[in-house]
Amino acid sequence: MSQTDRQNQLQTLRARLGEISDINNALSVLHWDQEVYMPPKGASGRALQLATLSSISHARATDPELGALLEDLAAAGLKGDDAKLVSETLHDYRRAVKLPDEFVREFSLAQSRAFEAWVKARKDSDFAAFQPHLQTIVDLLRRRADYMGYEGSPYNALLEDYERGMRVDSLKPVFATLAKEQSRIVDAVTNSPHQPETAWLDQEWDEQTQWDFALQVAADFGYDLEAGRMDRSVHPFSTGFGIRDVRITTRLSKDELFMGLTGAMHETGHAMYEQGLREEDERTTLGEAISLGVHESQSRMWENMIGRGRAFWEHYTPKLREAFPLQMQDVSPEDVYRAVNRVQPSLIRVEADECTYNLHIVLRFEIEIDLIENRLAVKDVPEAWNAKVKQYLGLDVPGDAMGCLQDIHWSHGSMGYFPTYALGNLYAAQMFERIEKDVPLLWTGVERGDFSPLLNWLREHVHRVGRRMTAPELIQSITGKPLSPEPYLNYLKSKFGGLYQVSL
Ligand code: ZN
Repeated sequence: MSQTDRQNQLQTLRARLGEISDINNALSVLHWDQEVYMPPKGASGRALQLATLSSISHARATDPELGALLEDLAAAGLKGDDAKLVSETLHDYRRAVKLPDEFVREFSLAQSRAFEAWVKARKDSDFAAFQPHLQTIVDLLRRRADYMGYEGSPYNALLEDYERGMRVDSLKPVFATLAKEQSRIVDAVTNSPHQPETAWLDQEWDEQTQWDFALQVAADFGYDLEAGRMDRSVHPFSTGFGIRDVRITTRLSKDELFMGLTGAMHETGHAMYEQGLREEDERTTLGEAISLGVHESQSRMWENMIGRGRAFWEHYTPKLREAFPLQMQDVSPEDVYRAVNRVQPSLIRVEADECTYNLHIVLRFEIEIDLIENRLAVKDVPEAWNAKVKQYLGLDVPGDAMGCLQDIHWSHGSMGYFPTYALGNLYAAQMFERIEKDVPLLWTGVERGDFSPLLNWLREHVHRVGRRMTAPELIQSITGKPLSPEPYLNYLKSKFGGLYQVSL
């Protein structure tokens, strides 16, 4: 085959991928609207629209002509980005063809119905109303695992969707170390006599003022609001429809000063990753994030290592005081830094502090494995949940809304997703060891509200990589080591040992 014919084949491939990407971005717009603006009666129509578009996207992604084209190109001895584009797309193609079209449609419909039921069940704190939907989801996920194939646990097949190459057997020892060490840290810290003064937080905080402040911080971080926007939703999230339209949501309460802000900082970290993908990769397989764990490393770094850092609050406390002059008359940067890092076992994952957060993940990981491996019946989920909350966090769960109904993920049909949150913490800490060496002006920049040294580093080493590497390759290339829980645990010990004046 001539060089020109080969170029034509690559052009055909890019055109096909572009169309699939357009359909998927349209699906994302509909999902975004479903969670942000859609009126309740729109749900049944939306479910059908999503199912139809999912099925069209799946049909395109599994078109035998695409498969033949990819096999042909894979055998052509391409080099560089062309070779990577073909091998990554072929990887996706071979996975996508394992799922029959009827299954994709059935799954999409079940997701929409489960989401609708979950919203109501959570509002009423009534697991029984969600139980049949969760049963359907678990049954469908087991079938999905069978279609995809796996070695060992069927949960491996679900993990593969979110964190390629990750396995139950490699996660278990890492999570066991985190559970043991973080429980010990939480014990030491909560028993320290040096507890932060937080009484000043028990005031009313005007929601619009909170909103404006959070949006300003997002813009200061480097989130391009000409290519993004922020809205309110029940569960904060970010979603992109191409690098020039990446949106975030957060939630607000007049009783909680930090909830809306930390949600916005977190989602901004995600959104800046999507905005930082290469333009030339747009509408192709290479223009995608590496994995959910790597995605989460970005949100956690901006939310926690930066947004809950001392340098950040040196700069932003005077600005927050300007926004809330009455409430914050006598509050110093150190007071805010200590309050925003208060360690307190709590029931809600998204509000958890850094020391207890992974404990929430470990308990979900265990429950999901038991569900998928058929050791736990769906009807027994609340009991299992409540027992593990007692075990890991020492708390009693007063109702399902504060317990097993708090998260959106199962209603979306997502299991195997939660572990990526803990992995995000670990990746972030491991990367950060390198960043602190590579970027000497990092903290002096943050103290002035200049985040560009960090963002530029992330752009170069993470965002622009697209799918040219897998997560293990990225971590190895940045840090010279494979994934390890040690950097995160060292980070916790140093930060919280200092805050609580205990030796960890
Ligand atoms: Zn996140």
